[in-house]
Amino acid sequence: MFAHNKRLQYTVRVTETNPGLANLMLEQFGGPQGELAAACRYFTQALGEDDPGRKDLLMDIATEELSHLEVIGTIVAMLNKGAKGKLAEGAEEEAEMYRSITGPGNDSHVTQVLYGGGPPLVNSAGVPWTAAYIDTIGDPTADLRSNIAAEARAKIVYERLINLTTDPGVKEALGFLMTREIAHQISFEKALYSIQPNFPPGKLPGDPRFSRVYFDMSQGEVDLRGPWNSDENFEFVSNREEQRAVDGGDGDGTVGLSAAETTVMTALATRTASDTSVDPTTGAELGMGEPLDAPAAKAKKIK
Ligand code: MN
Ligand code: MN
Repeated sequence: MFAHNKRLQYTVRVTETNPGLANLMLEQFGGPQGELAAACRYFTQALGEDDPGRKDLLMDIATEELSHLEVIGTIVAMLNKGAKGKLAEGAEEEAEMYRSITGPGNDSHVTQVLYGGGPPLVNSAGVPWTAAYIDTIGDPTADLRSNIAAEARAKIVYERLINLTTDPGVKEALGFLMTREIAHQISFEKALYSIQPNFPPGKLPGDPRFSRVYFDMSQGEVDLRGPWNSDENFEFVSNREEQRAVDGGDGDGTVGLSAAETTVMTALATRTASDTSVDPTTGAELGMGEPLDAPAAKAKKIK
């Protein structure tokens, strides 16, 4: 069950209202790296998790992310207070009101006009939140890696928001939210490496003929070598001949067809075969106008 506590996880002290800034904050409310996406990601993973330690970890962090959603949503609501009240009460001249919600650097008109100043589940560009933001695959070593990356992205978005905010109270609350993503990243990494072995993900091993090969497929002036393709770590294959049909086969695609399948596939191939002996006039050529010596043009002249 869930229980709600009326105190926020971190106190929100917004110095002054700013509808434009509120809109930017929506990125972490209803955006792909936002708190709802994080909460739903870990909550659904927790429900499907069998390991008691990971289940507990995922449920703890999912619940904390919902608490972050509450903090960032409160920041949005506070920043919108002035515009919300003025618009609802018709408190300003229309032109003044229009300027205050659509002015330079202020994209908050949709939030104000459509959502009445409340925090909508959209990103900072107004794109509705979607479950497609959640890429859970249901394997702990794959999902923990994805969670680590998700926390890294969330940390970066918070960092960017902090760097464009002058309000000290907003900066402080965002700093807390950003810091918690760092802590979550550490927990997920610890959980991942608590599974031994954890690589490759899943149970099936890779084909040893190819698991330590580096195909140098993009060749040009800059072909840098590093630990990601070093001779110590990989068999480095630059030769184009050795990059194709690496299984030793002919590199073609084949399939076994039944007699009935062969009959219809042959009929299809015959019906749609290219005739290389003709040079048909196309609609594009007709549109360009007929050349003077073409039969149609001659007929026109006689007439
Ligand atoms: Mn969070
Ligand atoms: Mn997090």
